[in-house]
Amino acid sequence: MNFQLSEEHEMIRQAARDFAQQELLPGVIERDKHEKFPAEQIKAMGELGFMGMMVQPEYGGGGMDTISYVLAMEEISKIDASASVVMSVNNSLVCWGLEKFGTEEQKQKYLVPLASGQIIGAFCLSEPEAGSDATSQRTTAIDKGDHYLLNGTKNWITNGNSASVYLVMAQTDVEKKHRGINCLIVEKGMPGFIVGKKEDKMGIRGSDTHSLMFTDVKVPKENRLGEDGFGFTFAMKVLSGGRIGIASQALGIAAGAYELALKYSKERKAFGKTISEHQAIAFKLADMATRIEAARNLVLKAAWLKDQGQNFDKESAMAKLYASEVAMWVTVEAVQIHGGYGYVKEYHVERLMRDAKITQIYEGTSEIQRVVISRMLLSE
Ligand SMILES: Cc1cc2nc3c(=O)[nH]c(=O)nc-3n(C[C@H](O)[C@H](O)[C@H](O)COP(=O)(O)OP(=O)(O)OC[C@H]3O[C@@H](n4cnc5c(N)ncnc54)[C@H](O)[C@@H]3O)c2cc1C
Repeated sequence: MNFQLSEEHEMIRQAARDFAQQELLPGVIERDKHEKFPAEQIKAMGELGFMGMMVQPEYGGGGMDTISYVLAMEEISKIDASASVVMSVNNSLVCWGLEKFGTEEQKQKYLVPLASGQIIGAFCLSEPEAGSDATSQRTTAIDKGDHYLLNGTKNWITNGNSASVYLVMAQTDVEKKHRGINCLIVEKGMPGFIVGKKEDKMGIRGSDTHSLMFTDVKVPKENRLGEDGFGFTFAMKVLSGGRIGIASQALGIAAGAYELALKYSKERKAFGKTISEHQAIAFKLADMATRIEAARNLVLKAAWLKDQGQNFDKESAMAKLYASEVAMWVTVEAVQIHGGYGYVKEYHVERLMRDAKITQIYEGTSEIQRVVISRMLLSE
């Protein structure tokens, strides 16, 4: 075993840390307050190679491993989880899915601009009536020979308005249940495709979450990903990898809140000494650091397994479950350590606490992660 990061990994982490400090920190409170999408920052992240990190260079990506990706995700998420969710969806859902399962034509047309950060993508599985139970898709993609006719509504779509390319799951053959679901590549601007209302959210307020409406959208057959009926398997495979991204987002939110709390505890005085000298606060810091380290090891293990080409489904669910619970717990404690100052926007920790909550919900709730993990344990 080797717990040592390579020089290259350290450089990537440092580059992400510097970018987050210099480009994301200024304005992060304002963007959260006004629900402003970090457009300029995402463009810069694309130019630096953060939007298609794991994609092979021939398709416009950085050709890096998953370890590099989670290290960068952690650093970006410490400062701005709204920017990191855009990065996560683009890298681990959209680009990874296209690279692994797309045809050469699909890769040239869609993956190259997505991986090089010229455009961003969205992953569209959830519906008003299909969240955790993603098999009950109501959106339909009727086979019309050379094209599919797409009808229905998607909910909660990250990058809903800012994306140019959407991977949309839809039911082609109801009789075949989840084996009748397809994934179609839909372009913004296709006639009949409308971006619906933007959600007014508790956290990750800089990211744009929208419903999407499809009315008789003609999607060419060549825009189907994989074989007929592969859509549900595609979504599950992609989400398994995506969970490593969300786990590293949760880890970053926790680590960011911990770093702020540690610093504050060494500055703030009460009863003649710094609050860090009160054992109640010191013990909180010890528990925060320990849980964060445990979460980091789970995230790195899942990333490492993926890089080795081994099965990582259980480990990515474990990493996502644990890191998101740690993020929620640590951020609440970070607010507590800040006292009244933790309750106002200026000190950042209240935003991190609001941002942490979503990591227990999207890409499979904590309950669903437990379903996934326990199923695998019981079938081993
Ligand atoms: C900000 C945001 C961004 C999102 N981005 C995207 C996106 O880009 N693309 C996309 O497709 N979706 C996205 N989602 C949707 C997200 O993945 C779903 O909200 C999530 O999967 C839960 O589905 P639901 O909201 O319908 O809750 P439900 O499935 O209705 O669940 C409600 C509660 O019941 C519990 N529950 C459900 N089934 C079980 C079970 N079998 N056992 C135990 N408990 C259960 C859940 O854990 C939860 O606590 C996003 C959501 C949000 C809020």
